[in-house]
Amino acid sequence: MSVPGELTFVAPRRAKPPRHLADLDVEARRAAVLEHGEPRYRSDQLSRHYFERLISDPAGMTDLPAATRDTLASDLFPQLLTPVRELTCDDGATVKTLWRLFDGALVESVLMRYPDRSTVCVSSQAGCGMNCPFCATGQAGLTRNLSTGEIVEQVVAAARSLAHGDVAGGVGRVNNVVFMGMGEPLANYAPLLRALRRITDPSPAGLGLSQRGITVSTVGLVPAIDRLAGEGLSVTLAVSLHAPDDELRNTLVPVNTRWPVDQVLDAAWRYAERTKRRVSIEYALIRDINDQAWRANLLGDRLRGHLVHLNLIPLNPTPGSKWTASRPEDEAEFVRRLEGHGVAVTVRDTRGREIDGACGQLAATGADR
Ligand code: SAH
Repeated sequence: MSVPGELTFVAPRRAKPPRHLADLDVEARRAAVLEHGEPRYRSDQLSRHYFERLISDPAGMTDLPAATRDTLASDLFPQLLTPVRELTCDDGATVKTLWRLFDGALVESVLMRYPDRSTVCVSSQAGCGMNCPFCATGQAGLTRNLSTGEIVEQVVAAARSLAHGDVAGGVGRVNNVVFMGMGEPLANYAPLLRALRRITDPSPAGLGLSQRGITVSTVGLVPAIDRLAGEGLSVTLAVSLHAPDDELRNTLVPVNTRWPVDQVLDAAWRYAERTKRRVSIEYALIRDINDQAWRANLLGDRLRGHLVHLNLIPLNPTPGSKWTASRPEDEAEFVRRLEGHGVAVTVRDTRGREIDGACGQLAATGADR
């Protein structure tokens, strides 16, 4: 029974993650500090603890008066991510972490160490609403959007473990951040954008990573691609294409029925034009589904002459999937044909496969795996 005057048809609002310093821009941080009756320079002090020293435990902020640590610092550094499980492979060079969020939602991030750089692959949503049938995350649907703080914390956690020498290979730093974990980043636009700024703004505003080291991967939400192109950022756009024709792409990436291949690619070229950044096209090679020589030719025709790099990803089969990766000879022929069209192409290595940490394997279904 509905009670008169009550909003019975409004979906219950999920509680928001607690406010964290990383959610706030510099001005909002100053306001928060003043609200606590503290001098405004505390704002920069706190920011440097977090973004430079990678500390978020108030007890470690020894230059602050004890009372300030107990009130202000505790207020601005709630624990957003709690590690549930950590899995490593590739001789310790790949680390996947399952995080529990404040409301019990689960997300994963993956840290990959290479001889010359480190890349962290972060989640932008808990689950995903895009429903791509070959992707593990897509199977469970969308739980919720992540907050800016929850996204930034994944990067800071990676930076911290590298800085502490916790990852094989000694002390290091984060060079690249790829939004290729769980979720569709452009479907969580405002928190994504704030996270991009926080990650790339120099200290004390943010972490100070190079914009050129950041990649945002999307199924192809055209209006959001155009919006991102206008933000004045030098981040790389990756578009998950997976098929050069609408008939197949409608099944592999269902949102294609809304924004078909032509429109997605046009948006990608506009992005390249405005940002002068080479766009990445992601293409998971699926045996006998999208790896035919004629599809390679069609893809080549569509990409030829553009500021583009093609990333072929051998499909990582998800549990219960009827699909698998292409045969080596089909993959080689696919590459050969694309190169014949003058397209820059690489086949991505599949780091983290055996810990379900490779592309499309992030599922975060619970603590039992
Ligand atoms: N939603 C965004 C980002 C997350 S997925 C997007 O779709 O781009 C990151 C990349 O992994 C995407 O290119 C996605 O299509 C790809 N991917 C998903 N499942 C995969 C699988 N099982 N094998 C290989 N790549 C996969």
